Amino acid sequence: MDFDFSEEQKMFQKQVRDFCVREVGPLVAEAEAKEETPLQLFPRMGGLGYLCARYPEKYGAAEMGKISECILLEELARICGGIAAAMMVHSGLGTSMINEHGSEELKQKYLVPAIKGQMISAFGLTEPNAGSDAANMSTKAVRQGDHYIINGNKIFITNGPYADFVCVAAYTDKSKGASKGVSVIVVEKGSPGYSVARKMDKLGNRSAGTAELVFDNCRVPASNLVGEEGKGFRYVMETLDGGRIAHAARSLGVAQAAFEASVKYSNERIQFGQPIGKFQAISFKLARMAMQLEAARCLTYYAAWLYDQKRRCLKEASMAKLFASEVVVDVTAEAMEIHGGYGYMMDSPIQRYYRDARLYPITEGTSEIMHVVISREIGVP
Ligand SMILES: Cc1cc2nc3c(=O)[nH]c(=O)nc-3n(C[C@H](O)[C@H](O)[C@H](O)COP(=O)(O)OP(=O)(O)OC[C@H]3O[C@@H](n4cnc5c(N)ncnc54)[C@H](O)[C@@H]3O)c2cc1C
Repeated sequence: MDFDFSEEQKMFQKQVRDFCVREVGPLVAEAEAKEETPLQLFPRMGGLGYLCARYPEKYGAAEMGKISECILLEELARICGGIAAAMMVHSGLGTSMINEHGSEELKQKYLVPAIKGQMISAFGLTEPNAGSDAANMSTKAVRQGDHYIINGNKIFITNGPYADFVCVAAYTDKSKGASKGVSVIVVEKGSPGYSVARKMDKLGNRSAGTAELVFDNCRVPASNLVGEEGKGFRYVMETLDGGRIAHAARSLGVAQAAFEASVKYSNERIQFGQPIGKFQAISFKLARMAMQLEAARCLTYYAAWLYDQKRRCLKEASMAKLFASEVVVDVTAEAMEIHGGYGYMMDSPIQRYYRDARLYPITEGTSEIMHVVISREIGVP
């Protein structure tokens, strides 16, 4: 067994950490206040090979493994969970189905510019009446000659306000059920009948844009179908399975930031004539936070390692996602307690970590759904 990152991965971690501190950190306050993703980061990160880093070199990506993708997301989320969300969706859910199943034409048209950060992607699955029960979606795509006509609404779509294209899941034949009747179609900004209905106001992750999208007789070329008609639900589920590991890494990053701030504050804040870290009530909290982080990190990177070995890891990916998102909620709540009133003030990053964390048990499969998946994987009927 080897629990160490390789020399290459360690160098990558240092390089990314420096980048995040130097170039992302200064953008966070304004992005959070304006609720806008700093879009200039897309071409900047694309130029450095930090977007879609897992994808093949032949399309311009760095072709790094899942472990490196997790390192990148953890470091980014350590600086800003919202910006990490925007980049995570772009580098995963928004593009991976094109990478894995798209035609060469789609790859050249959408994947290559997305890898460079010249186009921004989004993933449209959730609908007002179909969240966890995604198969209950009502969006439909009807083939008319060499076009699809799409009708429906997608809600809570990350990168939705400014995405250049969205991978949309829609029924092409409802009579066949989700497993054989759903397809994924790329809808480009500017397509007739496609619009951003509204930008959505959120509790946290404010530097990632979220929107409701409307497809009203939206007309797209039939060549924008990803892979084969009727196989879309399988593609979506595969994408979500891999996405859970990245999601866990993002939770880790926010938890790590809250933990580091708490250790520092416990050493600096004097009450009753001594640093508060000397009170056992506080030092025990910190010890527990450190342990939770360590355990979440082991689960996350173990799942990433399995993924890189091309081994089945649905159970481990779901465990990592579930556990890391519980850890980030706990750790940020304890960080708030340790920082007292100062953590509650809007000029403290602690309140941001606390608000951001609350999203992670909800997105990309809620904690309850993760329990359902893990139960199935361990053979519970
Ligand atoms: C900020 C944000 C960004 C998002 N980004 C995207 C995106 O980019 N693309 C996209 O397609 N979607 C996105 N989503 C949607 C997200 O994936 C869904 O919110 C999530 O899947 C849950 O769906 P829901 O909100 O409709 O909740 P529901 O499914 O209605 O769930 C409500 C509650 O019921 C529970 N529940 C539901 N079914 C079961 C069950 N079978 N067993 C036990 N409990 C159950 C849930 O766990 C939850 O506690 C985003 C959401 C948010 C908030």
